[in-house]
Amino acid sequence: MYYHSFKVVFQEVPGEISLCFSISGCTLRCKGCHSPFLWKKNSGSLLTLPLFESILKQYADLATCVLFMGGEWHKEELVALLKLSKKRNYKTCLYTGEDHVSRELITHLTWVKTGKWDQSLGGLENEKTNQKFIEVRTNTIQNYLFIKN
Ligand code: SF4
Repeated sequence: MYYHSFKVVFQEVPGEISLCFSISGCTLRCKGCHSPFLWKKNSGSLLTLPLFESILKQYADLATCVLFMGGEWHKEELVALLKLSKKRNYKTCLYTGEDHVSRELITHLTWVKTGKWDQSLGGLENEKTNQKFIEVRTNTIQNYLFIKN
């Protein structure tokens, strides 16, 4: 599994400091995609388990969550990384453009964001969005966390 970028982010998972990995090879081709550089398979660098584990260790006192932007198309590899994240006491989140996530993946997630990008409906901060930010344990949609008063 290849990642195009790694960043520490503060808004994508409300209340958490997240280690965000953008995974290469998205096949969804949403119209108006904000990250078309993620479409190319195997662009960027290989995300090996040792590299991933070293990042988790490095940020152990700072970050609280691991966020994957895509990667569900590498199910087994992603499950291994999610398991390791939980073992290192991180919460976990997946942003996917799909509407449903496999059972194997969802059991390792604290949150999941589902739904394709639709420019006319906007993102999570928009009340009419098709996208859903879901807390997995309670199976509740928590888009309200993104909507400013
Ligand atoms: S899921 Fe995200 S990266 Fe993939 S095509 Fe849609 S907007 Fe782009």
